[in-house]
Amino acid sequence: MSVLIFAEHSDGTIKKSSLEAISYGVALASKMGLEAHALVVGETASDLSELGAYGISKVVQAKGTGLVLSDTQQMAAVVTEAVNHKDATLVIFSNTLGARGIAPRVSVRLKAGLVTGAVGLPDTSNGFVVQKNVFSGKALTAIRILTDKKIITISPNSFPITKVTGSAMVEQLNIQTSAGIRIKAVNKATGMIPLAEAEKVISGGRGLKGPENWGLVEELAKLTGSATACSRAVADAHWRPHHEHVGQTGLAIAPNLYFAIGISGAIQHLAGVNRSKTIVVINKDPEAPFFKAADYGIVGDAFEVMPKIIDAVKALGPL
Ligand code: FAD
Repeated sequence: MSVLIFAEHSDGTIKKSSLEAISYGVALASKMGLEAHALVVGETASDLSELGAYGISKVVQAKGTGLVLSDTQQMAAVVTEAVNHKDATLVIFSNTLGARGIAPRVSVRLKAGLVTGAVGLPDTSNGFVVQKNVFSGKALTAIRILTDKKIITISPNSFPITKVTGSAMVEQLNIQTSAGIRIKAVNKATGMIPLAEAEKVISGGRGLKGPENWGLVEELAKLTGSATACSRAVADAHWRPHHEHVGQTGLAIAPNLYFAIGISGAIQHLAGVNRSKTIVVINKDPEAPFFKAADYGIVGDAFEVMPKIIDAVKALGPL
């Protein structure tokens, strides 16, 4: 019996959010006296035996013609086959967009209890109880999984990546795929830090008045190696693309730094960012609700404050 962790990869490397899921799965496996195995689907440029440095003893690399990583139905079939192949009792995913499509399907196929968006290791002192955030992060709930097979997706940035020494065995699993979706073209944004993976995020709201002023956000993001984000009001106004919109109906993120410029801090916005480690808010209205959630706040006009911050960051030199 084992813990199987689904490891997503992009541009040949395992994603940071998957390394967190791996560290979580390894810690859980050690708590339960099980082995930790990783599942990687398709080809990657990286040496998968290096996942041993995160505590993985075996990597199952699933390969087959016609595998499409973004086909959640097909991926669910692959994960199910790997779970059966490795006799895994626990399956761990990072709670990414992809995993949110795959994990429930695997749950149905395996008749396994599923908790999405877990924020800590399960309490196994009396059964198997997993904690997750509810009510837009305002409360925690504890969910008991009663089935033999269990699936957990963990919230990105909620578990630290832990390195150990070691090397993993890599085993190939050939998959017979049934025809799934066919991808005609993939247009990937290049040179940008993916928002879901970002450690630092610079975000703008309607207080920035229009898309022509986003240079301030982009310049600070570039100087600090941050991703850019926005409020829904901004995305709805087509000032920024919808994939940048964070909040209840957008992406939920938990970076080390969330820097909010001209965003009021409506509850629906906070729902997506209130797990950030440090929140900095610039708003000209001292009564803006965001200040209640902020670690640092600047009451001022963004058009006066931002150039000063950009100059100060430039003066610090490369970060
Ligand atoms: P505004 O509310 O217009 O606030 C602009 C802020 O900028 C104000 O606080 C103002 O004081 C400040 N400001 C103005 N000028 C300046 C200046 N020169 N310098 C500094 N500050 C300035 N919103 C989300 O963001 N994400 C979601 O996922 C989301 N989901 C929603 C789901 C539902 C069901 C509903 C009903 C709403 C949702 N919303 C969401 C919308 C949300 O309620 C707010 O309307 C939205 O977040 C407001 O965006 P904003 O703060 O950019 O704009």
